[in-house]
Amino acid sequence: MTQPASIAGVDSITLGDALRVAGSADFARWEDQIRRTGGCSNPIHLTGWTLTKDRTTGETLHHYSTEKEPGGRLRIACGNRRASRCPSCAYTYAGDTYHLIRAGLAGDDRRDIPVTVRDHPRVFATLTAPSFGPVHNRPDSGRCRCGTRHSDDDPALGTPLDPDSYDYAGAVLFNNHAGQLWQRFTVRLRREIASRAGLTQRELREVCRISFGKVAEFQKRGAIHFHAVVRIDGPGGPEDAPPYWARTQLLDDAIRAAAVHAYTTITVPAAGDEPTRTIRWGTQLDIRPIKALGAGEELTEQAVAAYVAKYATKAAETTGTLDRRIGELAELDRHEVPDHTRCLIRACRDLNALYPDRRLWAWAHMLGFRGHFSTKSRRYSVTLGALRKTRADYRAAEQAAALGLEYLEPDTVLVLADWQFAGHGHSPGESLLASTIARDLQLNRETAREALHDLRAQEGASR
Ligand SMILES: [Zn+2]
Ligand SMILES: [Zn+2]
Repeated sequence: MTQPASIAGVDSITLGDALRVAGSADFARWEDQIRRTGGCSNPIHLTGWTLTKDRTTGETLHHYSTEKEPGGRLRIACGNRRASRCPSCAYTYAGDTYHLIRAGLAGDDRRDIPVTVRDHPRVFATLTAPSFGPVHNRPDSGRCRCGTRHSDDDPALGTPLDPDSYDYAGAVLFNNHAGQLWQRFTVRLRREIASRAGLTQRELREVCRISFGKVAEFQKRGAIHFHAVVRIDGPGGPEDAPPYWARTQLLDDAIRAAAVHAYTTITVPAAGDEPTRTIRWGTQLDIRPIKALGAGEELTEQAVAAYVAKYATKAAETTGTLDRRIGELAELDRHEVPDHTRCLIRACRDLNALYPDRRLWAWAHMLGFRGHFSTKSRRYSVTLGALRKTRADYRAAEQAAALGLEYLEPDTVLVLADWQFAGHGHSPGESLLASTIARDLQLNRETAREALHDLRAQEGASR
């Protein structure tokens, strides 16, 4: 078969399909749907209808059906948080995570997080994995142990100096237990704080609450590590003042002690040729106090929130692994997975039979890690769900306004609806057009953000 001719990297079949879509009678409506999804690359298709009636009179106020929509379908955003799956939905997720972490740091009156949380002791802590064998790196001295000065985009970075002696099994077992190790760390941290304050656990709960907002990130070597905002609140949560003894230094000390405590370890029993292993944090522990913006400090609330949001969408893809479950090892060849990552995936497969309850093969595409990428304790901040709801409410209000229904109180109208899943995705031409829409929207957002930034800078200068 001959290759189709291509224009600017787009093959003629895709181009032809794009022209068909763009030339169709309902193109404007299709474009509007995709714009509302933010240029989602894999929208969910729905068929169905809604009927809005006045509760008292029974009068039909509004009737909507997908019958008249392009292809008889309504397309909604997929909501995937992975940039490799859907860049625009991942962008939205990153934005939500940013607001979530930032609200927990700086407060947000619209979301019931008082600005006084800024005065609570809080730090940004990074807990890392231990060493599983030396890897190529860029030390401060400049020269790696192999004798080379690696450039920062050298694919050798993070790969073992000696693959034969690298502990791949230890690496994936660490990833696999990282979530539980974090759990143990938080339990121990409460004890360390209590003992420094001279209180029992129960007494501690009566005077304060420890809250966490954390994200997991993969290092180049394929080991998971955690970044967390740890904060001490009063007993009622963010709105309550913390006790007088709760200081940043005490929190810092307690975190250091909790991270290395014997309780903060997990024993993995010997199986087959595998020795008994003790899973614990690595010796690299970074703890920094977080200051309010403008305090002249290096690590600001904004910087932390931006950092956390950035990693919330990256998952394990930085290591070149697949972004979905692996069916068989042959898939790794088709996707040109790098050798080091491949060894980690193979270790998951080999260990799976020895530790079946750890489900290592099912999580092999995550190099054994089975936890969530971003989590927070109940009182840290608003939830992602609440942020999504805010957006949904906004859209609903927008839609109601467009239909002239905005003056109606929600409980005076009756909404009947019937929706069915009708598939997902785009045709090749739709996909091309959707990515153009996504780029457009992205550009608009960036321009708006720059303008806002300039405006704030001007305000700051005129003060
Ligand atoms: Zn999407
Ligand atoms: Zn090297």
